Amino acid sequence: MTNTESAAGAAKKAPAPKAPAKKVAPAVAVDPAVIEVRNPGTGEVVGSVPTETADAVAAKVRELRLYQPEWEAIGPDGRKEWLLKLQDWLVDNTEHLADVLQSETSKPRVDALIDPAFSVDLTGYYARRAAKFLADEHPSPHSPLARVKKLTTVYKPYPVVGVITPWNFPLAMPVIDVIPALAAGAAVLLKPSEVTPLSALELARGWAEIGAPPVFAVVTGAGATGAAVVENADYIQFTGSTATGRKIAAACVERLIPYSLELGGKDPAIVLADADLDRAAHGIAFGGMFNAGQVCISVERVYVEAPVYDAFVAKLTAAVKDLRQGIDGRESKHDVGALANENQVLIVQRHVDEAVAAGAKVLTGGKRTGVGTFFEPTVLVDVDHTMSCIGEETFGPTLPVVKVADEAEAVRLANDSVYGLSASVWTGDKDRGERIARQLNAGAVNINDVFSNLFNFALPMGGWGQSGVGARWGGASGVRKYCRQKAITRPILPTQQKELIWFPYQMPKLLVALGAMRAAGARGLRRVDIPALLKLKGDTK
Ligand code: NAD
Repeated sequence: MTNTESAAGAAKKAPAPKAPAKKVAPAVAVDPAVIEVRNPGTGEVVGSVPTETADAVAAKVRELRLYQPEWEAIGPDGRKEWLLKLQDWLVDNTEHLADVLQSETSKPRVDALIDPAFSVDLTGYYARRAAKFLADEHPSPHSPLARVKKLTTVYKPYPVVGVITPWNFPLAMPVIDVIPALAAGAAVLLKPSEVTPLSALELARGWAEIGAPPVFAVVTGAGATGAAVVENADYIQFTGSTATGRKIAAACVERLIPYSLELGGKDPAIVLADADLDRAAHGIAFGGMFNAGQVCISVERVYVEAPVYDAFVAKLTAAVKDLRQGIDGRESKHDVGALANENQVLIVQRHVDEAVAAGAKVLTGGKRTGVGTFFEPTVLVDVDHTMSCIGEETFGPTLPVVKVADEAEAVRLANDSVYGLSASVWTGDKDRGERIARQLNAGAVNINDVFSNLFNFALPMGGWGQSGVGARWGGASGVRKYCRQKAITRPILPTQQKELIWFPYQMPKLLVALGAMRAAGARGLRRVDIPALLKLKGDTK
């Protein structure tokens, strides 16, 4: 089956444009309701999807609402069975999923295989643990006075969660948030990126193929379709650019619905003089160039202590020069693929050109190459914080490297960013690494590694500053975020006709009640309100 055919179950290949009749002004028959999906490495059209209207989105949300109560009612153990069936389907269809994913991204084969493998791992984690994470909790009362009640916290899912995703990991990005939301008992409406919708449609096909309840649906389209999801769902989980995240936050605030935003980044790597420079160079080359640098947690800035700067830069440049760039089939021949679209090429080229114009040097790469949207893996030096390659998210294969005097300067410069997604510290002293990690303004820091927090679902993944609001995963938080919390109190002791503070107010009784609260909460002699006690004694004489 070809890539095009593989996506055909869910999306139609665009019809060939008709040749215009002679002497008639050629009307460009672009149907705005159809989105063509292209392989960015070759330019070939590999499929097409409809632009779904606001009405269509509202109708899908209404339908999801019908089925969600039953999905919630089967409980986490019932849902586990469906999620594990989906996991089986992901395993059984891995090669096909990688084909579809490659067709719409032009990723190297290994990169394309990462999405299904990651999806399998994450699905198993939340399928198996959701029951524990969603179980009722019985917290200890905060004060002796409250011990007369049994306390219960209940987790009740939002009926419909809207998940909006970008194009950089067309299968993993949806799975990352769809699965925990389904595990929580919510129905999910996914709006994948219009650049790479085919893999998401495959996920929906898998859900239907295993015969699961219709509580997961996909709508295709661009920003307007995403905005309609925001208008109709009960919770929005968004991953994408900071600019779009801001619009989504405003729309959610207007509707008073909760949201979580996973946005852009400008991750720093700090290389200290005591680091294993070979590991640091290979790790940072991978961290900067994996998926052609189109990862929110890509290494986008490198700060190197002066004594090892020259040696590190030589090793990094050699590692980056060794990378093989091109289009893979099913065999793995390349390390770095194309950028997702022409717009990405223009951003990367602008960052390089502006840096060079301001005095930076390109040690390798620096320009687009071949046909399609390939950009050479690039190392830049003599860069500083006035340049766009350091200040703005590049989301491409560039590694700007800055020499720093010492650890303190490295931390100061690493923190000099509006973003705060993640960071890495490279050192021979892990305690020193952890001390620095605690000083960095970032949602995650990996010591002597890149991306490793991403493969640990027990940890939260969230950005600080303009990199996001809220977080995904983090063990139980990963499913509880899709739930409303309900508090239930239930008397333990036999109840009286009236509580001390109920109407009609009676001062002596109130003083006893308020005095008991004060005694339980205050400290030292302030626990006892002596004038009130004396007054009480007088009143009761
Ligand atoms: P984008 O913001 O352009 O689009 C993301 C999604 O939002 C797409 O599905 C798009 O159609 C939709 N959208 C656009 N306008 C909308 C609107 N007004 N209302 C609702 N939806 C709307 O981002 P992109 O270019 O697809 O992705 C690249 C960005 O994603 C980068 O900034 C990258 O850092 C970020 N990203 C972040 C993470 C993370 O976990 N923090 C992960 C991957 C990518």
